[in-house]
Amino acid sequence: MLSTMQDTPLTIGRLVRHGTGMYSSSEVLTWTGTEARREQYGQTGRRAAQLAHALRDLGVTGDQRVGTFMWNNAEHLQAYLAVPSMGAVLHTLNLRLFPEQLTYITNHAADHVVLVDASLAPLFARVLPTFTTVKHVVVVNGPVEALEVPDGIEVHSYDELLSGRPEEFDWPEVDERQAAAMCYTSGTTGNPKGVVYSHRSIYLHSMQICMSDSMGLDGTDKSLLIVPMFHAMSWGLPYASMLVGGSMLMPDRFLQPEPLAAMITAEQPTFAAAVPTIWQGLLAHLDATSGDVSSLRNTIVGGSACPPALMHAFYERYGVRITQAWGMTETSPLGSIAMPPAGVTGDDEWPYRYTQGRPPAAVSARLIDDNGDEVPWDGESVGELEVKGPWITGAYYRQEEDGDGAEKFRDGWLRTGDVGAFTPDGYLKLTDRSKDVIKSGGEWISSVELENQVMAHPAVAEAAVVGIPDLKWDERPLVAIVLREGENVQPQELREFLEDRVARWQLPENYTYIEEVPKTSVGKFDKKRLRAAYAEGKLD
Ligand code: ADP
Repeated sequence: MLSTMQDTPLTIGRLVRHGTGMYSSSEVLTWTGTEARREQYGQTGRRAAQLAHALRDLGVTGDQRVGTFMWNNAEHLQAYLAVPSMGAVLHTLNLRLFPEQLTYITNHAADHVVLVDASLAPLFARVLPTFTTVKHVVVVNGPVEALEVPDGIEVHSYDELLSGRPEEFDWPEVDERQAAAMCYTSGTTGNPKGVVYSHRSIYLHSMQICMSDSMGLDGTDKSLLIVPMFHAMSWGLPYASMLVGGSMLMPDRFLQPEPLAAMITAEQPTFAAAVPTIWQGLLAHLDATSGDVSSLRNTIVGGSACPPALMHAFYERYGVRITQAWGMTETSPLGSIAMPPAGVTGDDEWPYRYTQGRPPAAVSARLIDDNGDEVPWDGESVGELEVKGPWITGAYYRQEEDGDGAEKFRDGWLRTGDVGAFTPDGYLKLTDRSKDVIKSGGEWISSVELENQVMAHPAVAEAAVVGIPDLKWDERPLVAIVLREGENVQPQELREFLEDRVARWQLPENYTYIEEVPKTSVGKFDKKRLRAAYAEGKLD
């Protein structure tokens, strides 16, 4: 028997109508280097309508792709609202990809128009001639002269293009399963792979983010969106904010610790989200300047394992609670979040907060061992994490035509490539990405666990651990250390420090000191580059 309920599509258009109408005075702030320029949701909605009219005039119809090559700012948000709501597909381009990857993803997605921030024009101009489907480029926040374009491509100024256009758009009713936006994974092996989000998946994911046992975003929040809008849709926060009317503080290109601290002091955000390396940098800056970030009620750290030492430092020195979340571009990204269980308070919360947390109701999870069997949730048994759910991708874009990517799926489950264990009450403890696990004498050593322990040493700013070849044991851990400014610690001292903290056979013998841990395009430790540097003899 079918239900009697109405079948109302869950679309971005609905979300935009609701947000910009109900919360028209909520703010979108964009940092300019010294202060924030401000607009209200109502205005964002009117600009989005103008942008949609302009894009129609540029020939955007149906599900054509509109790319963005932009920082987090008000104009990027306008594109977030306009493009999916008009039925087209927003493709956020990761501006830190290698040129050949940018060429690949823009052509693979067949972008028709790309919106480009003027400050990124020189970078963009280098790849533009390699794009085969782009017909129009729109320069945002600067003059069109900033960008040199090849023949056959028209260039427009964002402000001029929008000027005088109607401030309302009759957002079409689209099927909720249609594509709304797409992101490519950074593709550590092979070509980047496209993940296509639907209206429905984004809508449901936004609702999840606002649940109190999740990120608990609400209308009183002012969210500092540090995580780029090209990194898994800024973890869903722009659309989730629209749903509840929370204000947004956009850092634009000012992502270094100093301006981040300045914008927090000036604008007092209550919520922020970023990868651990951003928080590490901010922490060092705060320690050096006795800054104040106490306005932050909740901060989300994800994208890589969050070192417990970082959580403690923020809580004990700055009164800021860090909540760890796990996810992937493929999972929209929220796959699990580490809120302690009901009734657990104070110091008892820590063991739960160190984990990657529990999956929300809509996300199913299982762990599979090397034989393809499910492992029990006993807190010890380790397997590869597989997930499925309404905001988890079931394939990559054009996977069949490309003949690439099918191995990432098994019986309708996404194989995450992450390895770990579940406690009986559903807390996920990831030990590694499968490609980063260190296999020593037939046993696995968790590089993440070692990093967490090394980073607990007060002289250590950052530490990355990779496996290096070893004649006797196959692999042994190599610890690459970035020291805090003015601090020092010798390998022998570190070894002694680790003795009480890790099993004896896991104790690393190999240490090297580096200026900086190499980072990926989204700011995570790039262990591939570290391993390569070792293989080339560039690490002592
Ligand atoms: P990329 O693959 O380009 O790094 P993603 O952001 O999609 O882009 O990366 C997803 C991966 O990030 C996950 O598969 C996992 O390995 C890692 N990750 C994300 N959050 C966490 C976390 N809280 N703890 C450990 N690893 C994490």
